Amino acid sequence: MSKVILKEEHAIFRKAFRQFLQQHAAPYFEQWEQEKQVPRSFWLEAGKQGFLCPWAEEKYGGSEADFGYSVIISEEMAIIGAGIGGIGLHNDVVMPYIQEFGNEQQKQRWLPKAVTGEIISAIAMTEPGAGSDLAGVKTTAIKDGDNYIINGEKTFITNGYTADLVIVVCVTDPHAQPIHKGISLIAVEAGTPGFTKGKKLRKVGQHANDTSELIFDNAIVPAENLIGQEGIGFYYLMKKLQQERLVLAIGAVADLKRMLDITMDYVKQRTAFGKPISKFQNTQFKIAEMATKIKIGETFVNRLVADHVEGKDIVTEVSMAKWWLTDLAQQVAVDCMQLHGGYGYMEEYEIARRYRDVAVGSIYAGTNEIMKQIIAKNMGL
Ligand SMILES: Cc1cc2nc3c(=O)[nH]c(=O)nc-3n(C[C@H](O)[C@H](O)[C@H](O)COP(=O)(O)OP(=O)(O)OC[C@H]3O[C@@H](n4cnc5c(N)ncnc54)[C@H](O)[C@@H]3O)c2cc1C
Repeated sequence: MSKVILKEEHAIFRKAFRQFLQQHAAPYFEQWEQEKQVPRSFWLEAGKQGFLCPWAEEKYGGSEADFGYSVIISEEMAIIGAGIGGIGLHNDVVMPYIQEFGNEQQKQRWLPKAVTGEIISAIAMTEPGAGSDLAGVKTTAIKDGDNYIINGEKTFITNGYTADLVIVVCVTDPHAQPIHKGISLIAVEAGTPGFTKGKKLRKVGQHANDTSELIFDNAIVPAENLIGQEGIGFYYLMKKLQQERLVLAIGAVADLKRMLDITMDYVKQRTAFGKPISKFQNTQFKIAEMATKIKIGETFVNRLVADHVEGKDIVTEVSMAKWWLTDLAQQVAVDCMQLHGGYGYMEEYEIARRYRDVAVGSIYAGTNEIMKQIIAKNMGL
């Protein structure tokens, strides 16, 4: 990230966070990939050192940090590996719903523990039958006295297995027209009667991120867990997706730079036909092309970060960044693996893991086709 919004204090924070990751994440990353989750102890340590929801107000235990700190956390975590992305989701996607749309009592109840890592959070939109078409969700939350009775199933939920608090996208009014006006957000706590978690799903990559199904079978949730107002949930989601997609684009740039860096190192030390493979024109052109595209993407994202901080509506531009950078990450992963030759296909080489991990970038947080649909719609088509 350039100097658009980052100052001296951000640089100090970056150094501390990088050190923290080197000490507490890098040595265990392989193990977490095998266990398919990041342990609670890591979350608690991150919380202790002020790296969870640093934007939270002091009265909730936070440091009232600006968005620059979220940028740094996203970048540094992407450098370690996308498998710890669940923390970014907690920090910059899920808990901001509580901050922005929750009431005072909800903030007091959940924010301080989200800051310490005692609460791990998740957001459950996707269902087995509804992903891109979010207005098609079928999970219902029907009012019954002082409770909602929730029935339905969610899938592919990041942090789903470990989550203590899940913001669930539910239909509170099945008769609403248009249907999205019947959608609400309800916070469901682990241990709620009728709420169970499925097993950790086996994925192609990003293994350390736990991803799970969630099942609601007459789950009884206090009505006071409604986030904001009934029937406005879809609007809340649309409002917050800008930041979710921007954070993803920031991570994609960091990931791209990392793939290029490790490939640069490799091509300089690997020899063939009596010279380093970096001396072949094909290698140089490939590296030059990748570096150019990454620089263009980074410049664009830097601009968007500054616009986002100024509170501008940049939904169209963020959608552009999300699809373009996550597609680019896939192309770059292929080219970097090719430049590694057979070694690139071996698990001991970092590029192999990154090749697997970037594949999902074009799918989650809204598929790249949906991004293009948003762009076209906002262009008046
Ligand atoms: C690792 C991982 C983590 C995830 N984490 C979360 C999470 O934390 N919370 C959560 O709620 N969800 C999460 N998801 C779900 C993710 O957001 C969805 O998978 C995604 O939105 C796509 O939905 P779908 O899988 O139902 O695909 P579908 O909607 O069935 O799409 C299938 C294909 O059809 C295309 N398509 C659909 N509609 C259109 C259209 N109108 N025009 C053109 N093409 C179209 C899509 O682009 C895609 O290529 C996660 C998914 C993965 C893989």
